[in-house]
Amino acid sequence: MKKKIVILGSTGSIGKTVLDVIKKDQKKFEITLLTANSNINKLLKQAKIFNVKNLIITNKTKYNYAKKKLIDKNVNIYNDFKSINKILKNKKIYYTMNAISGLIGLDPTLRIIKFTNKIAIANKESIICGWNLIKKKLDFYKTDFIPVDSEHFSIWSLINKHNIGNIERVFITASGGPFNKLDLKKFKFITRKKALTHPNWKMGRKITIDSATMMNKVFEVIEAKNIFNLQYNKISILVHPKSYVHAIVKFHNGLTKILIHDTNMTIPIFNSLYFNSQKKIKSKGLNIDLLNNLDFQGINFKKFPVTKIINTLPIKQSLFETVIVTANDTLVDMFLKGKINFLDISKILLKIIKNKDFVKYKKIKPKNISQINQISDYVRFKIDSLSI
Ligand code: NDP
Ligand code: MG
Repeated sequence: MKKKIVILGSTGSIGKTVLDVIKKDQKKFEITLLTANSNINKLLKQAKIFNVKNLIITNKTKYNYAKKKLIDKNVNIYNDFKSINKILKNKKIYYTMNAISGLIGLDPTLRIIKFTNKIAIANKESIICGWNLIKKKLDFYKTDFIPVDSEHFSIWSLINKHNIGNIERVFITASGGPFNKLDLKKFKFITRKKALTHPNWKMGRKITIDSATMMNKVFEVIEAKNIFNLQYNKISILVHPKSYVHAIVKFHNGLTKILIHDTNMTIPIFNSLYFNSQKKIKSKGLNIDLLNNLDFQGINFKKFPVTKIINTLPIKQSLFETVIVTANDTLVDMFLKGKINFLDISKILLKIIKNKDFVKYKKIKPKNISQINQISDYVRFKIDSLSI
């Protein structure tokens, strides 16, 4: 019998890579559901190639348009994530990938856990803002979870059967993005085009900007703390412009494990799908030249001031993470629309997180998704009304 798969956010960078992996082994899998926000041309093409019978298109206008455009009457199109219950009723999916960008990805994550044996999550915003809610569901429905962000996938693979208590320290690597070597004086001239050109990774626009400001590493430290139940003081960042090593774990037993893989998201994605199988993937041979010169560096806090946010984070999961994610999301969007410049992202973000209206959320644990969404809406409203 074919293994059932769901890809949330199939039209994005991660989603397309998942489909590329599946395409090489298409006879083994049946794709039950694909979702997108507005890229209906891509979504309908994917549905045709993979013979998918259920689609969710969240953008209302695009949904209406797709309904009209669709010729194959056997394909069901839905407009919201609530439909997941209807689509997957009485079904148990083998594997789900959440490759949606943004906090919007939390809702389908929580909805789909009960219908899937395994969930791979690339959507870092849901892990950062709603991990306690996700973890509760994973435990209740005994659903396996695999992190897909390359650093977290690496830590997850390195820990394997080790107890979390055996971990002395975790090192997450950071490429440093396109501006690691740029003279600080030139930061004020950074354009959108330059910020969208990552030296090592091909990713969606939002995460590419987060890599350029290094906000992505702040997010990844929170992700690691949540997923592996670590304290912040056990997590370090190493700037590693070559992006060959993705994580290092030092254990209390004296061993240190390093994980290396090609700079390509196909590898963590492939392994999240085929974990513990004999399946092979084409990859480059070991690069000794690179190994001989790994070139680890510390963070330059003057160039990447947002990384200082890590020192202000509350020990326990709180609604403050939603404040940070939403504020950053809003500012990146403003930068991409040309409303603010590159340096404003960090400047405004650092101001916002000191604002007493937001600091109070450090003490509040998220109770449910509507509370998280409410705070998120409030942060957006406040940033808009500050008329930045
Ligand atoms: P992309 O921007 O390339 O793709 C995002 C996907 O989410 C698209 O399918 C998009 O649909 C969908 N989407 C966006 N907004 C909405 C919405 N409001 N409602 C429903 N669907 C929506 O992102 P990436 O693939 O780069 O990243 C996905 C996630 O994975 C992010 O959280 C990112 O941080 C994380 N990640 C990505 C990595 C990478 O290499 N790309 C590496 C590690 C983590 P549409 O195309 O219609 O807009
Ligand atoms: Mg990463």
